[in-house]
Amino acid sequence: MKTIDLRSDTVTEPTPAMREAMARAEVGDDVYGEDPSVNHLQAMAAEMMGKEAALFVPSGTMGNLASILAHCQRGDEVIVGDKAHTFLYEAGGISALGGIHSCQLPNQPDGTIAIEHLHAAIRPKDIHQPPTRLIALENTHNRCGGVVLSPEYCWQVAEFAKEQGILTHLDGARIFNAAVSLGISAKELAEPFDSVTFCLSKALCAPVGSLICGSQPFIERVRRVRKQLGGGMRQAGVLAAAGIVALETMVDRLAEDHARAKRLAEKLNSAPHLILEPGSPATNMIFAQLDSGCPVTTKKVCEALKERGVQVGAIEPHRFRIVVHYWIDDNAVDVAANAFWEVLKELSH
Ligand SMILES: *Cc1c(COP(=O)(O)O)cnc(C)c1O
Repeated sequence: MKTIDLRSDTVTEPTPAMREAMARAEVGDDVYGEDPSVNHLQAMAAEMMGKEAALFVPSGTMGNLASILAHCQRGDEVIVGDKAHTFLYEAGGISALGGIHSCQLPNQPDGTIAIEHLHAAIRPKDIHQPPTRLIALENTHNRCGGVVLSPEYCWQVAEFAKEQGILTHLDGARIFNAAVSLGISAKELAEPFDSVTFCLSKALCAPVGSLICGSQPFIERVRRVRKQLGGGMRQAGVLAAAGIVALETMVDRLAEDHARAKRLAEKLNSAPHLILEPGSPATNMIFAQLDSGCPVTTKKVCEALKERGVQVGAIEPHRFRIVVHYWIDDNAVDVAANAFWEVLKELSH
């Protein structure tokens, strides 16, 4: 039996239209720059983000890593949020592989970094200190609850960075969820930043791949870094073909995921011992916690849910992440909500 898998939007499998496009894809050697499908995807991505150029990479992690390596020299410092994916979940790549120092500032519950914290963190010109080169933000912000950063806030950070002579990068793994939720284009959200990465392999359902977008000279440097990291792919057009379908057909429909996440959250709202986090869901993710009176941890609850064919993420002993995506329909929402209620009732006495 296939489970109702709400652990992440990374579990989304390609749609039949994507598989067809993959089978028919025109391909070439992309390290030579000769894969027409990859070139088409990159042109689309650059256009959608309002940047000069784009580069296809195997993963969002490589996208962030290659971007930061292309912006910074060894010994430079990048400012990241202390709940940023780049800081928490990318295996320390920027320091291990790039010799890049990170300055971690507190992410506020809304996913932002306070401007006064940024001010205080900028290094003076002093040979004792690593120079601050880059500020990296994340939108939507995963660990803060799939929350959306506003374009106003992003501009505030970008203008501050510009005054300081510092570059900006956006980890926009889920930038389309943010854009759809705000009812604006991804381009508007990307505009303040020197570079942006986004994932095709999450809510957009493509099997593999992310894009890095920025100026032409930046993308030239990133292309070299991607090669150094072993991310130069050959007939990658079979993957890019799915990405093209994703960008053409899967962006606007994200509103459906957001609506279903709301419906699921409403159904879970008064389940025994379960407390939704304030404002959740902001987009396609529900974050909920077990109250202190609950006799079991999220791990136990997840095991019992799995027996009923439902999977959710136990990201902390008392905290769940529940992600709605393309393959979760209205019926799956009902089944998942009922399973949650049953399991919590059963385990709490
Ligand atoms: C998923 C994700 C990434 C990178 O994803 P990969 O799994 O390496 O493709 C980067 N940033 C955020 C916020 C993410 O959610």
